[in-house]
Amino acid sequence: MDKVEKVEIVRIVNSVFQSNTYLIINSNYRICFLIDCGDSSLIIDTINKRGLFLKGVFITHSHFDHIYGLNAVISEYPGILIYISAFGKEGLYSDKLNLSRYNLCPYVLQRYDNIKELNEGDTIDLFGNIKIEAYETPGHDKSCLTYKFGNYLFTGDAFIPGLKVVATFPNSNKMDAELSRQRIIFLSKKCGLYPGHGEIYENFQSEVYL
Ligand SMILES: [Zn+2]
Repeated sequence: MDKVEKVEIVRIVNSVFQSNTYLIINSNYRICFLIDCGDSSLIIDTINKRGLFLKGVFITHSHFDHIYGLNAVISEYPGILIYISAFGKEGLYSDKLNLSRYNLCPYVLQRYDNIKELNEGDTIDLFGNIKIEAYETPGHDKSCLTYKFGNYLFTGDAFIPGLKVVATFPNSNKMDAELSRQRIIFLSKKCGLYPGHGEIYENFQSEVYL
């Protein structure tokens, strides 16, 4: 991690299923990125009160509790880039794939062009010389990506410490979920772990018995 870059992570606990949205903030440049997008009013308030410029949104997977703020956030910040896996992109436009259809609140993204599909190993510049890397970690859902930059690891629902990975949805795969879990534990060495639900683990491997 480049010591010159000051990075702050702010966690927002959303109203739907208490999913987490994270803001990755660099106050040197006053820019920020989102990991997942839940309660848009909380997200927009946080960004605007601090005078930050939102550069992009990284989606861990397209289950609706991780994406339902996108339409409102896009209309507040037109043109921002959304990063997601190819299968996740399909889920943005399908209330069946994103599961909102089964929760009495059908949600789909309005037609939107600034979506960049990410594959295993793709990297995106965040700020300075810091890049974020995408890892395909399917199992919970086929669309799952885990993101890593510096010593920060964002796992979505592919791995939540202390909980069994939920792999009972139509696009889940139990064997993939276990492989992804092992992979994430390997990736988490010396990292803070930022899951899709629940608390942050600043020093994951020394805090949690694996
Ligand atoms: Zn999920």
